[in-house]
Amino acid sequence: MKPYQKEQDASIRVGQQMTLTIKSLGINGEGIGYFKRKIVFVDKALPGEVVHAQVTEVKEKYALARLLRVVEKSKSRTVPPCPVYEECGGCSLQHMDYQAQLASKKEIVIESLRKYARLDNPPVADTIGMDNPWGYRNKAQFQVGKQDGKLIAGLYQTGSHNLVNLEGCQVQHDATSQIVQAAKQILEELGIPVYDERKRTGVIRTIVARVAFGTGETQLTLVTATPDIPRVKELILELRTRLPQLVGITQNVNAQKTSLVFGDKTISLWGKPTIAEKLGDLSFALSARAFFQLNPEQTKKLYDQVKNAAQLTGKELVLDLYCGTGTIGLWLAPYAREVRGIELIPEAVEDAKRNAEHNQIDNASFHVGRAEQLMPKWAKQGVRPDVVVVDPPRTGLDNALIRSLLDVTPARIVYVSCNPSTLAKDIAKLQAKYKLVSVQPVDMFPHTSHVEAVSLLVKK
Ligand code: SAH
Repeated sequence: MKPYQKEQDASIRVGQQMTLTIKSLGINGEGIGYFKRKIVFVDKALPGEVVHAQVTEVKEKYALARLLRVVEKSKSRTVPPCPVYEECGGCSLQHMDYQAQLASKKEIVIESLRKYARLDNPPVADTIGMDNPWGYRNKAQFQVGKQDGKLIAGLYQTGSHNLVNLEGCQVQHDATSQIVQAAKQILEELGIPVYDERKRTGVIRTIVARVAFGTGETQLTLVTATPDIPRVKELILELRTRLPQLVGITQNVNAQKTSLVFGDKTISLWGKPTIAEKLGDLSFALSARAFFQLNPEQTKKLYDQVKNAAQLTGKELVLDLYCGTGTIGLWLAPYAREVRGIELIPEAVEDAKRNAEHNQIDNASFHVGRAEQLMPKWAKQGVRPDVVVVDPPRTGLDNALIRSLLDVTPARIVYVSCNPSTLAKDIAKLQAKYKLVSVQPVDMFPHTSHVEAVSLLVKK
C-alpha cells in the first residue's frame, strides 16, 4: 500500500460521521458509497441517495456505517410494511420498491460478471419477479424463547442472538403463520417449558410449520430438546381442535448444543408423517425433514429456465450435479434420454430416489457422492454427458469439478447459482472452452438480498 493511501485510511475512524453518495447495492442489500476512495457499506441506504452516516467498523478494505439520515431520497425508497423490519434479520430490502429490487438484482449479477469474468457487456436478462411478492414462503421455522416471562417465537436479529417475536410475517404463507401463532398460544397455556440454550433446560426449541402450495396440506413439527413432551396428549388434542387444517403433527428430538435445527430422531405424534406437494407435473411426499424449495411459485419458473437452457431433444444424457432431492433432474427427465444426479447427503439421495419412483420416472438415477469426485470417475469409465446442470452451494464449484467439465466438455453447461460472485469466478475459468450465452436472474426471495440466476454456457 502506498503511504498516501495509508494516511487516507487512517482518517476514517469508528464514530466518524460523513455524507456519502450511494453508488450501488451490495450483496447483502447495503448501499455502497466511497469516502476518500474507501468502500463504505451503509445499511439500508439506496443507490442514488445522498446519506448522512456514522462509521461503526473500519476494516482494511472497507468500512461499515449506520444510516443516520437520508439527505436526498431515492425514488425507489418505500415504507417497509413489516412492523418489526428494523429488528428482524429475515428481510433486508423491504425499504426498496419491488421493481427496483428486481433491477438491482440484475445489476449485481452484471457487476460480478464484469469484475470477475471480465465481460464488458454480459448477456443478463431482466430478473423474473413475482406478481405478488408476499406470502411466498411455504415454511416457517421459528426459534422459541421467553421474553418477560412470555413464550415468543421468531427469528434472530441480524448478527446477534436476540430473538425477535413474530406475530405474523408477510413473506410467509398465511397458513404457516396461523399454525405458528396457535402453537405458541397452546404451548403457553399448557405451560410446556421452553428450551433454554444457556442453562440447557426445558423442552421446546423450534416450531416448524409447512404448507404444500399444490394441495393446501399443512404440517406442524415441534423440535424438542427432550424425547418426552409434558402433557403431550392435551397438546395434540388442542392442536387438532384449533388447527383442523393440519394433516400431521411431528416431533423431532434435538438434544445437542448446536445451531442446527433438526436432530436425528423424528416421531410422528399424530396423523400423516408427510404432506403431498405438487410442482408442475411432479408430486412429492414431504416428510418433516425433507428439503423442498421455499418459494414454489418461483421454483417452477427457475426450473423452466433450466429446461429452456438445457435445450433437450430426448436424446441427451444429463447430469444433475448437487441435485438435492432430485427435483431439477426429475423436471428434465421427461425431455432427456437419461438423467443422473449426484448429491453429497445420503438422505437427500434417498428422497430423490423415492421422488423418482413416486412420479414413475424410470430414466433418472441418483447417486451419493461429491460431484468433483464422481463426475471425473464416471468420465474415466466413458460416461459422456451432453448437458451438465450444476446447482452448487454459495461456495460455487470445486476446482476439480471445473477441470473435469473442461476435460469432458459437455455441449452445454447450465449453471444455477445463488451467489453471483462465485458464479462469475467459475465462469471466468469455464470460459477457456465455453461461451456464456445467457444469464437469467430469478427472484426466489423477494425483499431479501438473495440473488438466484440460471446461466447457459455453450461449448466453443
Ligand atoms: N438442486 C437442488 C438443490 C441444490 S442445493 C434443488 O433444486 O432443490 C445444493 C446441494 O448441493 C445441497 O443439497 C448440498 O448437500 C449439495 N452438495 C454440497 N456440496 C456438494 C458436493 N461437493 N457434491 C455434491 N453435492 C454437494
